[in-house]
Amino acid sequence: MASPIARVVLDVPLDEAFDYLAPNARPDDVGRRVQVPFGRRKAMGVIVGLSDHSDFPAARLKPVAHIQRDTPPLAAADLKLLGFCADYYHHPLGEVVLNSLPTRLRQTGETALPSRRRYHLTAAGLALQVADLPPRAGVQRKLLTLLQEKGGAYREELAELAATAPQAIKHFLAQGWVEESEELPTLAPAPGTQAPSLPALTAAQQQAIDAVRDAGAGYRVWLLHGITGSGKTEVYLRLIDWALAQGKQALVLVPEINLTPQLEERIRRRFPAKTLVSLHSGLNDTERVHHWLLAQAGQADIVLGTRLAVFTPLPRLGLIVVDEEHDGSYKQQDGLRYSARDVAVVRASQAGVPIVLGSATPSLESWHNARSGRYGLLELPERAAKNAAPPQVHLIDTRHYKPDQGFTSPLLNALATRLERKEQSLVFINRRGFAPVLMCSACGWVAPCHRCATRLVVHLRERTLRCHHCGHEERVPLGCPSCGNADLVSVGHGTQRVEETLAARFPEARILRVDRDSTRRKHALRDMLEQVHAGEADILVGTQMLAKGHDFPKLTLVGILDADGALYSSDFRASERLFSQLMQVAGRAGRAADAGEVLIQTGFPDHPLYGALQRHDYAAFAESLLDERRQAYFPPYCHQALLRAEAPKLIDALGFLDAARKLALELDYPVEVYDPVPAQMARLAGKERAHLLVQADARKPLHGFLKAWMAALRRDKNAKVRWSLDTDPLEF
Ligand code: ADP
Ligand code: ZN
Ligand code: ZN
Repeated sequence: MASPIARVVLDVPLDEAFDYLAPNARPDDVGRRVQVPFGRRKAMGVIVGLSDHSDFPAARLKPVAHIQRDTPPLAAADLKLLGFCADYYHHPLGEVVLNSLPTRLRQTGETALPSRRRYHLTAAGLALQVADLPPRAGVQRKLLTLLQEKGGAYREELAELAATAPQAIKHFLAQGWVEESEELPTLAPAPGTQAPSLPALTAAQQQAIDAVRDAGAGYRVWLLHGITGSGKTEVYLRLIDWALAQGKQALVLVPEINLTPQLEERIRRRFPAKTLVSLHSGLNDTERVHHWLLAQAGQADIVLGTRLAVFTPLPRLGLIVVDEEHDGSYKQQDGLRYSARDVAVVRASQAGVPIVLGSATPSLESWHNARSGRYGLLELPERAAKNAAPPQVHLIDTRHYKPDQGFTSPLLNALATRLERKEQSLVFINRRGFAPVLMCSACGWVAPCHRCATRLVVHLRERTLRCHHCGHEERVPLGCPSCGNADLVSVGHGTQRVEETLAARFPEARILRVDRDSTRRKHALRDMLEQVHAGEADILVGTQMLAKGHDFPKLTLVGILDADGALYSSDFRASERLFSQLMQVAGRAGRAADAGEVLIQTGFPDHPLYGALQRHDYAAFAESLLDERRQAYFPPYCHQALLRAEAPKLIDALGFLDAARKLALELDYPVEVYDPVPAQMARLAGKERAHLLVQADARKPLHGFLKAWMAALRRDKNAKVRWSLDTDPLEF
């Protein structure tokens, strides 16, 4: 047979795999990392196939430099999932594959992998008796005894025997009595923990769990719709237990791990004898590769992670859970623009395992699938803890009660009452900084970001103006750059201003502001949450950061400022998002025995969104949104893709899209191709942005079209314009 050819994918924006000579390749090298010469550099790639034939003449093929056999290969199932993503998102396979690996595994050169050295006796060593060793070689005798008793030991254990143990090991190695091997360090379960007693399940929880278990171990998508506090997490835990009991691994995805530190703790406490690894951006490269390798080796029983964790190799996968499945952060917004929730569903189907999507406010896509019977629907309509009722939601009409410094009198009174009663309150405003706009009182000038089509946000404490889109920062000017007037006013409210207003109004209250700015320091959020739990704060001022997944038993009031903005947005998903955000933040009130109250300040008290919120009626609201979507022919009633383009000049971006549109029309598929338009954020970080929407009734024709279209677009090189495709876009 001819010398084997390795088909290698690389982290380059090209669709094809590259052929290399690999004379020493073995069949089990498919899925392995490989170092290859690429242009003038060495690159890390992954072998996706072996063949005895190449379309290129052998003389032109270069040999691979090194096949990395220090870690196991990606399994066929892993490559299949990555291959699906490359197809579905029309993204180069090499980028998809390489970016799914932890950084350490993408680097060329010596890979520093976490490992532990282990020693065990060889046949000659096993035949040895302690009495065979010199009587005065005490350390050698101890070493042999220990190895005989334990069958093998780690270097650290042996080092504890005596200061001279390393010499003794060397001697044993030289004599051929022991062999050494490298092993992945295991993660020891937390010492002294034991499984807590389990709460008796509510009837609804029991039904949900039974439904999933009765359906068996095969593929099925379940939508777990449960109001906040209804005990969704308990359902996940029982199902994980069920999967682990069958010797399987469970994959649990969460939107942002920092926001839900309690979940990791809860899982750990529930399964003290099992290995739980987390995978998220808060880990360093060593931790990340270590956890990933433990998952791949099948040693991790539970993998808890964010978006990217959906690609973690799991040889014994038995269950996937996607918590807060509606959350926008499951969608990657650059590079491979995948939805981790959607990929998780595909993964479950490929692997033939059940998947549970949980939310208090499911995405309309998932709700639609549940209603049409494609997904099984599991409902938890009531709070799980005894005596915990959903909070009362009241609207404060701001046309009647004029806000002063952002606060109406009924809200201030309610806050005062909570202070008297020594209960906690949360004031929610989804805007950080002091004020969203700095304006000149004389000429109306407002401080713009010169790199983005947006305004700068006033951060008074730091005396800076900041762009929340591109990160640009500048000092607050002393006077108006346009007319010289010195009276510049901060218009509107952000968390900092709300904090200040409350401090002036309630000087005795302990106020804690929780937003991206106040939690920048490592562990700052965790420390703040601990303060809240310890009862060391009276009023919390926060953004959506506070809305997610936290349990604050002493919190009985939630006040919501300034939510109206999203009611009449041009983004067709804005009200879906607002509803879920408000449901979530409202859900923070009254989690335990104390009844909760939610006060919403609004100028539109008759809006159906607020009505649905008052009745805690997600289903009715979802139905009305779905009706709108059906009439307007929006997702989930159609399938969309967005061609995004950016360039220093808008005219170039639009010109590229115009040409792309002509190409699309020539291809003649049953898809609707819209006109190019500037993006909602038309300028971002100095780049002009525009896009072109394509939509179709069904996925199949859309993807047939996209494949042909992308191929045509990639042939035409356009140096001025950067473009990318966004399949199932969430933002426009
Ligand atoms: P969700 O994830 O739906 O918001 P959780 O699972 O966090 O809800 O549960 C909310 C609260 O109810 C938690 O304090 C939890 O310990 C408690 N809880 C959950 N299930 C039960 C149950 N069956 N009996 C009593 N308390 C429960
Ligand atoms: Zn001015
Ligand atoms: Zn900017």
